[in-house]
Order: sequence, then C-alpha cells, then structure tokens
Amino acid sequence: MAPKLPIFLDNHSTTPVDPQVLEAMLPYFGAVFGNAASRSHVFGWKAEAAVTEARETLAGALGAAPKEVVFTSGATESNNLALLGAARAYRRKGNHVVTSVAEHNAVLDPCRQLEREGFEVSYLLPDRTGMTSAAAVEAALTDRTVLVSLMAANNEIGTLNPIGEIGRVCKLRGVLFHTDASQSFGKVPIDVNAMALDLVSITAHKLYGPKGAGALYVRSANPRVKLLPLLHGGGHEMGLRSGTLNVPGIVGFGAAVRLALRQREAEQKRVAGLRDRLHRGLNERLEGVTLNGHPTERLAGNLNVAFPYVESEPLMMDLKEVAVSSGSACTSASLEPSHVLRSIGLSDELAHSSIRFGIGRFNTEEEIDYTLERLAELVPKLRARSPAWQVAQGAPKIAAS
Ligand SMILES: *Cc1c(COP(=O)(O)O)cnc(C)c1O
Repeated sequence: MAPKLPIFLDNHSTTPVDPQVLEAMLPYFGAVFGNAASRSHVFGWKAEAAVTEARETLAGALGAAPKEVVFTSGATESNNLALLGAARAYRRKGNHVVTSVAEHNAVLDPCRQLEREGFEVSYLLPDRTGMTSAAAVEAALTDRTVLVSLMAANNEIGTLNPIGEIGRVCKLRGVLFHTDASQSFGKVPIDVNAMALDLVSITAHKLYGPKGAGALYVRSANPRVKLLPLLHGGGHEMGLRSGTLNVPGIVGFGAAVRLALRQREAEQKRVAGLRDRLHRGLNERLEGVTLNGHPTERLAGNLNVAFPYVESEPLMMDLKEVAVSSGSACTSASLEPSHVLRSIGLSDELAHSSIRFGIGRFNTEEEIDYTLERLAELVPKLRARSPAWQVAQGAPKIAAS
C-alpha cells in the first residue's frame, strides 16, 4: 500500500503531538484558564492542581520527588539553567567544567559563555562510536572541577552514554553531574538516584508533547544542588524560574510522559524493528553504506548512515517527500560539517554524505519501504554523476590486472 506523503522521518528534531496529549491539553486553553500562581480563587486552584499532577508524573518517571522538578520552556532553557546556574553558584569552590564536543549546542553555547566568565571548560572527544566513558570523565576531573555535563543520548547519532557509571564517578569525587536527557527521556529508563544524577534536562516536544514545555530536575538532598536563577520575577518554581507557568504545555508534558511510559517497551521494540528494516534494506540494495554511531548502544529510532560518493544535500532535495535531516548542516543554514560527525572521526566528505533518519511512534512499515525504494533509485543515480565514484569503481580492476 502506498503511504500518505510527505513522510516524517525526522523525529529527533521534534515529534507530532499525540492526539491523546492534545485532548488532555484542550480544556486548559478554554474553561480552565487560571494562573497556577493565583492562590485566592478556584480558577488558580484548578490550574495549580493540574500542574501538580504533571509534576508528580515527571518526578515519578525520573525516580525523583515532585519538588525537585522545575518547569521551563524546554531543554535549551533547562541546559542553560543547569550549566550557568550551577557553575555560577559554585564558583567559589572551583572554576572547571567538563563536557564533550559532541553535545548539543544548548550545552556547548552555555559552556562558551562560562569561558567568557572566566571558567575553564574541558571538551572531551568521544570515541569512534560517539560514547564518552566514565574513565575518560574521571581522567579529566581536577580539584577545581565543579560540574560535568554529558548527554544521555546523542541527537544526531543516537549513541547512549553510560550515565550511571559517569554519575557514580562524579559522586565519588564530589562533582555535580548534569545530563541532557532530551532524546532519551521516556524511551530509555532513567533513575536519578540509581544513576547518581544531580541535574537532568528534559523537553516535551521530543516525546509527542507540545513545544515550549520542558523541565529541569534539581537534586534537593545528597547533595542539595544550589542554582543561581536566570530569570527574576515572581519567584515561581522554588525561586529558580520566575514567570507564569505554561499550564496547557505542562499538562501536555505530563500526559505525554504517562502515555510514553505505558507503552514504552512495546513501542521501543516496534520502532527498533522499523529502524532495523530500514538499515537492512539499505545494506541489501546499496553498496558501501556505513553506520555512524554505536551499533547497539543507541536510541531505538535512530539511524545515521553515510552514503559514500553522494552528497546528502542534493539527495535530500531529490527526496523532498521524505523529511530527514542531513549530518552536515544541522542547526544553521551553514554548510559546516556536523560537529558530532567530525568528533567521531568522519572526514568532511563522509560527514557531507550522511543522513539522519529519526523513526518514531507514528511511522509505518509502508513508509520505511517507500523510503527504501526511493533511496535505492536515487543513490545510484547521484553516484553515477560523481567522478570520484567512477574512479573508485575502476580502481580494483586496475589493481588486479
Ligand atoms: C532538542 C534538543 C534540545 C533542545 O530542546 P528544546 O526543548 O527544543 O529547547 C537540547 N538537547 C538535545 C539533545 C536535543 O535533542
């Protein structure tokens, strides 16, 4: 059966709001419109009750206490609050921060800001699979280190970091550990105590919730994490994030998390099955496809591959009816190769030949098969135009004669 076009295979950039999530949100745009900070009437109480329920849901999913969940506008804000807020608060203890070159810009840019404020930042290079080991983190710690920030799952290549092991190393050395769990939350189990996490950034729109709703987990005991707020105003969210709460967004976040947890195992299995079908199909139909990232320790829905001798930009132009993302021009319109692909040792050529497929809840087998058919047709066509491919094809014959 032909799938409906266009096809969305870019579920790492964002995800559609699940219809059940939308349903849960709708009353909070209408009848239940109160300000959750209004203490003097029922409009406010109802809004506050809804926020409390969502806070409990998120805390439960993290293994945390509700008062440790601070609502924000998304993971960019959560990362900024974690990095700038913690580093500035612990400045007297030390001025060294450890992170990785493969992090999202929402971690790297606050780190550059900290450097401008006089902090020293160590940017670790991941291994060839995109992973940063606890041993590498341990080796980078000094007496001046106050904070380590490493993502739970990479947004380009899907590689999972051993955050529990890293958390234990940090705990032993008395260093705070922040993880950006935007991509893995609700998909890969997380427990802030078992994994010794002090700060965790999450966002609703990567999990079939609305855009503009996020949260930061902030440990309240063993140790109690101090943060300097970025926003000053009404003292909302335990004084850590002033501003009227986005009640519909928060309700949607809670509903999205409940839905994700309820079907997690079955959904992850189904999504991984579609991802493996795509990967197998590409290997069967095309020569020389190479996997970027870790073969097993990665997100179920992630497939980042290079098609050598094909540039991803023209390939994506020809494949307009399938939404994917290139490994080369990620956040901006620049044609700089992806900093993540470079960090795992890809040449500029291979980075410019890479495509990220992000498979999610609403994708079907028909969509995967359609995408396979189109790539099997387009890749050889584009390769035939590449002089380097012709040389590469000819080379073995010359060598053999
Ligand atoms: C999407 C994403 C972000 C940014 O989240 P927003 O909620 O869009 O601000 C940060 N980090 C990672 C790893 C992401 O995938």
